[in-house]
Amino acid sequence: MLQGKTALITGASRGIGKGIAEIFAKNGCNIAFTYASSVEKANAFAKEIADKYGVKILGYQSNAADFNQSMELAEKVIADFGTVNILINNAGITRDTLMLRMTEEQWDEVIDTNLKSAFNLTKGMLKHFLGNKSGSIINMTSVVGVMGNAGQANYAASKAGMIGFTKSIAKELGSRNVRCNAVAPGFIETEMTHALDENVRKAWADTIPLKRGGSTEDVANLCLFLASDMSTYITGQTISVCGGMLM
Ligand code: NAP
Repeated sequence: MLQGKTALITGASRGIGKGIAEIFAKNGCNIAFTYASSVEKANAFAKEIADKYGVKILGYQSNAADFNQSMELAEKVIADFGTVNILINNAGITRDTLMLRMTEEQWDEVIDTNLKSAFNLTKGMLKHFLGNKSGSIINMTSVVGVMGNAGQANYAASKAGMIGFTKSIAKELGSRNVRCNAVAPGFIETEMTHALDENVRKAWADTIPLKRGGSTEDVANLCLFLASDMSTYITGQTISVCGGMLM
């Protein structure tokens, strides 16, 4: 579905980003991906995917929260691959705590990594997409950005911000055939959610109509659709992958 295309995916050394990179590679897509600190994991992953699917794949250590690093990254990826067709703003972190205890650092770190990063990379790729008169941008938000969640004021605000950003970019760039959509996962089994207590994870799963946490593949399949020509008339949307958690 993505033969000959190139995707830039932030935060793909593990978790959802890694799942997206694998499904995209399986569908013929070349992959540029970033990570914050997992150098060994990223190198091993790049080698595994190149061997398995024969696509070009390069990992870049780059802090998505840093504007200058993101602009340099975008330039480097375009130079390395020739062209980029898909941008996935996936990198994200949590610093969960109740508002009473939340520090300014915990607020800033989450907003910068989850929300400012989307501004940074979209800005970095914008002229390239406008020049190509095509592009698909996918922003990884969360059901929590729609519903809110106690103990996650910083995270929920960052994810809600991404939804407003997505709709605005879709309106600005639609006439140039650049699409922008948001994907809102519910409870997905990754290191991010494994950090939660077993009982909390079970309690979450019990509230989900499909009675299980999602897999990274569940999220990746939606991204594949939104990145491909199967979705050329879809922009400005927030689509949940949540087993029915959000209706
Ligand atoms: P994860 O397993 O913790 O992986 C996070 C990825 O982001 C890693 O590759 C990490 O790199 C990278 N990263 C973190 N900070 C970065 C930075 N400043 N610059 C560049 N890369 C950075 O997380 P996940 O569960 O896959 O989540 C991925 C996205 O989905 C996030 O935006 C998250 O908010 C969203 N989401 C997840 C769930 C869920 O249930 N898991 C639900 C809704 C939304 P290193 O390995 O180097 O640290």
